[in-house]
Amino acid sequence: MTSRLQCMDCTTTYPIDTVTYTCAACGGLLDVQHDLDAAKKTVSRALFDDRLGSLSAPYNSGVWRYKELVHPTVPDEQVVSKPEGNTNLYHVPELARWSGVDTLYLKHEGENPTGSFKDRGMTGGVTHARLLGMTRVACASTGNTSASLAAYATQAGLQGIIFFENKNIALGKLSQAIAYGATCVQINADFDRNLALVREVAEETGIYVLNSVNPFRLEGQKTIMFETIQQLRWQVPDWIVVPGGNLGNSSAFGKGLNEFYQLGLIDKMPRIAIIQAAGANPLYQSFQRDFDDLQPIKAQTIASAIKIGNPVNYKKAVRTLRWTNGVVAEVTDQQIMDAKAQIDGRGIGCEPASACSLAGVKKLVAEGVIGRGDSVVGVLTGHLLKDPDATISYHTDSLNNIRAQYPNRLHQAEGDAAQIIDILNRARSAEYAD
Ligand SMILES: *Cc1c(COP(=O)(O)O)cnc(C)c1O
Ligand SMILES: [Zn+2]
Repeated sequence: MTSRLQCMDCTTTYPIDTVTYTCAACGGLLDVQHDLDAAKKTVSRALFDDRLGSLSAPYNSGVWRYKELVHPTVPDEQVVSKPEGNTNLYHVPELARWSGVDTLYLKHEGENPTGSFKDRGMTGGVTHARLLGMTRVACASTGNTSASLAAYATQAGLQGIIFFENKNIALGKLSQAIAYGATCVQINADFDRNLALVREVAEETGIYVLNSVNPFRLEGQKTIMFETIQQLRWQVPDWIVVPGGNLGNSSAFGKGLNEFYQLGLIDKMPRIAIIQAAGANPLYQSFQRDFDDLQPIKAQTIASAIKIGNPVNYKKAVRTLRWTNGVVAEVTDQQIMDAKAQIDGRGIGCEPASACSLAGVKKLVAEGVIGRGDSVVGVLTGHLLKDPDATISYHTDSLNNIRAQYPNRLHQAEGDAAQIIDILNRARSAEYAD
C-alpha cells in the first residue's frame, strides 16, 4: 500500500496526489499517512545509522535520511534538497545550570541552509509541489517560511510568492526572500489574515500553498525528532521543549515520535512542552481550559516568528500533547530576551522566538513540572542573524518594556590607545566583579 492523505478527524483518505489541504468531507486537517506495516520491514536503527555521513543525495540530508517515513515513493532525482538538517545538538552545562536542570541539549535548527527549521519542511513541500506539476508556490509568512520557500522554489525552478505583513518583519528574513528572487507582497494585514488571504488567492489561481497547513511540510519537520533521537544514540529524553506559533512544528513532532514508537525504533515517548509568548498564547489559554476550544487573539510579541493569534495546526498540536502527556507554558518577552542573551552569550545564538525553549525550561523547572533530574532537549528554531535589530536593541537597553538583565554594552572611543586600554581594563574588572 502507498502513502495517502488522511483526515485526522473523520479518517477519510485521499490519494497522495490530491491537491488539497483540508478534508473535503469535514474540513479537518490532513496527515500524510504512510504504510507503517510496510515500513516496518525496511526501516531500522541500523539503516538510519548506516546513512549517517553519506555524501550522496538524497541521504546526505537530515530529512531524506528517513525517506521511507517522509515521502517513500518520490524518485531520488526529483527531491529538492540543499541538503538540510544534520544540525548540531549542543550539550550546554552552563545553560542547564541557568535553567535549573542537570542535563540540557539544544537542537539548533537555525543551522539549516536558510537559517531556520522551515527548510526541513520546505524540502518536503517543494519536492511534492514539483511532483504535482505546480509552477507557482506561495505562503503567508512572519519571515522564515518566506526565506525558505524563496530559496527552495528557485532551486526547483518554481515561482515563489510571499505574503508579508507590512510591518514587524525581521530584516534578515525579508532580505533573504528578496535576494532569492521570490515575488514579495507587503500587505496591510497581520499573519493570521495573510494566511486566510493566501488560501483564498490560491483557491482561485491554482497556486500551491506551502504554509504548515500543507501536510508535506510537516513530514519534513518531524525529522527534527528523528535526528535528535538518533544523535542521542536512540535514547529518548524525558522532555522536548519547543516554541509554538502556528503549531506546525509541535504537530510534526508528535506525529514523528508516534511513528517511531509504533515502528519500535523507540520504546517510550518523551513529553513535549510547547512554549508560547505571553502576547501570542491562544494554545496556552486553551490548555488552561482543558482544550475546550481555541479562541483566536490579536498577537503581539517581540518574537515575531511566533506572533500568531489563530494557529492553523491547533488540533494537531492538541493531539501531540495528548500523545505525549505534554504541557503548554507561556513566557514574557522579558524572559524570552534574557534567555536569548544567555544562549547568545555561550556562542550558540538564536533569534528571539527560539529562546522560548530555554525560557520555558526555566519556568517549568521553577513550577516543578520539569524535574531537576530530567533530561531535556530544547529546540532552537532560528539563527541569531535573522533579527539583528532585536539583539542590538536589547544590548543597548532600548527595548520598550524590557530591561536587559544580561547586557553586553557597546563601548565608544576616540582613536586613542590610552583611552582604549582604560576601557579594556574597566571591562576586565567588571567581568571579574560579576
Ligand atoms: C516558524 C517558526 C516558529 C514557530 O513554529 P510553528 O511551527 O509555527 O509553531 C518558531 N520559531 C521560529 C524561528 C520560526 O521560524
Ligand atoms: Zn474529515
